Amino acid sequence: MDNDLVRRYLEFYQDLGIKTVYRLPPAAPATPAASIPPERTSVKAPTPELPPLAPPGEGLFQILADIGDCRRCRLHEQRSKIVFGVGNERSPLVFVGEGPGADEDAQGIPFVGRAGQLLTQMIEGTAKREGIPLLRDDIYICNVVKCRPPGNRAPEPDEMEICGQFLFRQLMAIRPKAICALGGTAARALTGHKEGVTKMRGKWFQWREIPVMVTYHPSYLLRPYNQGTAKREAWEDLKRVLHFVYD
Ligand code: URA
Repeated sequence: MDNDLVRRYLEFYQDLGIKTVYRLPPAAPATPAASIPPERTSVKAPTPELPPLAPPGEGLFQILADIGDCRRCRLHEQRSKIVFGVGNERSPLVFVGEGPGADEDAQGIPFVGRAGQLLTQMIEGTAKREGIPLLRDDIYICNVVKCRPPGNRAPEPDEMEICGQFLFRQLMAIRPKAICALGGTAARALTGHKEGVTKMRGKWFQWREIPVMVTYHPSYLLRPYNQGTAKREAWEDLKRVLHFVYD
């Protein structure tokens, strides 16, 4: 395993919230001692034997099963339903929001309230105008945290860290061609950048090797003072991501 691969494994485990990795001797040498290149014989500790980046073939159902009746963070205390995600498991495009609101908490489905209706209009309206045959059901939608933060507050860093492992597993399972981060929380969770969404929107970032387009959260676009420029910019961002994925 070369250094770059080890680094990628470690970044992946860091994303999952795992802070300590132990180096165990391998159960059996992978290659006969005689064939190990001389420079490697001087390495004292063996290369860590780590499992693949995600269990091969892991599907969303397995991830949902692992979430179970989750009580890993304080957000479980006031939730009605876990809001895992909805849509096409094979979608080349995934939208990631912040966390469920009241309507989503009641129904267990992401983006079904006012912001969700706007998101649906934006996706379907932009696709239609651009000549891309696409409905909301064709794509996949989920959030950084799966339980509603009380009073719709922003998720705390520890809540994002704990729940983020499931988001990352969802993304690994779907492996979309692109991700659209809706708002600053999703943008920060996926890119690690700390700037505000107005600085990040309209630009491509990466999560692992998957391109991430950042745009405004639809709740932000519902505010009366964001009906002009912000809405136009969000439509532009969406156009870019749809053409990138579907052209
Ligand atoms: N806002 C979000 O970020 N996600 C939802 O599912 C609903 C509103």
